Amino acid sequence: MPASRRYGLAWHAHRDNVAGKTIDDFVMMTASMAMPKGGGMLIDVKDVSGRVFFPATTPAFAGQIEPDGYGGFSEALHYRSVHGYDLFLGVPVLHDTVRARGGLGMVNAFGHRDDTYMCPANPRVRIETIALLQELAALAPGAKIFLPFFRYPYRRAPRTTAQGIPKHQAYCFCEHCREGFSGRFEYPLIWERTTREPQAFHDWIAWRCETIEVFAREIVKQVPAEIVLEVDLCPKRHYFDGVFIDNGHNIHALAEIFRTFVVHVFDRSDPFAPVEHASDMASDLMTVALGRLRSKAKVHLLLWGITNEATLERAYAYADAAEADIRFFVLDAEMVEALARRVG
Ligand SMILES: [Zn+2]
Repeated sequence: MPASRRYGLAWHAHRDNVAGKTIDDFVMMTASMAMPKGGGMLIDVKDVSGRVFFPATTPAFAGQIEPDGYGGFSEALHYRSVHGYDLFLGVPVLHDTVRARGGLGMVNAFGHRDDTYMCPANPRVRIETIALLQELAALAPGAKIFLPFFRYPYRRAPRTTAQGIPKHQAYCFCEHCREGFSGRFEYPLIWERTTREPQAFHDWIAWRCETIEVFAREIVKQVPAEIVLEVDLCPKRHYFDGVFIDNGHNIHALAEIFRTFVVHVFDRSDPFAPVEHASDMASDLMTVALGRLRSKAKVHLLLWGITNEATLERAYAYADAAEADIRFFVLDAEMVEALARRVG
């Protein structure tokens, strides 16, 4: 059994169906439910459509600031000091539709620019993102900075299509990536070669991981806060290729850079999330993956898809079985009271 059972709430600003929400929607819920002291609050203070919910002045984000979020941001800091919460402030790193469309988007193997994800090899992306994170660290001393979407996009349907990255979803082939790749491996990055030669494919996948790691080290070195990485380890969805190929995440290398991880425990195949902690192969793989990660770093869980008492029951049972330091529940608003009754 775990040494401690700490719970938290997560506000999922990066979900498509909350596009109209502001950060106040989440904070009002936590105020009314009295989470136990020592729990966690995980709030995205920026979303994937580019909105920034804290009073940033970094020039590159000037058109993306949402002053409606300032109140919620300040309240979250207040609750942290009053209730002793661990506060995690989420900033999606590469998923930003405003800036991707502004010329920073990844480029696929056809040469078409993506309008959602930015390229981690682009110096502007790195410099401007680090400036924003530094500003956040200064505005919220003591809070942890949580980095979701620090990865390459994964859009293939789970278990239904042939495995392998299709050309239109092969990122990134921008000028920075092609130049960096040829400098690193001493031959040009050409899609047809990566599909024909196993070594070229491996080099390209390794290059993507290394690009993420270089940017990650810059962030950890230059931003004065505890930095926490999101990892999407769902074993069913990633059964064949894994996060190494799909996301550009070399877990072993990243565990040398980050001390704390937040791992998704959710699933887009049947049965619906969260996966029950049962004896099926997917659950076993998840247990092994979590164990390996935990041998190097602190692990928190992020439990999704909780929309009724039955799924809350499954999520709660899974959370209790997994040895994680904090279990964050991503709840629909109507489920907050039900969780409060259990936790309280
Ligand atoms: Zn690129």
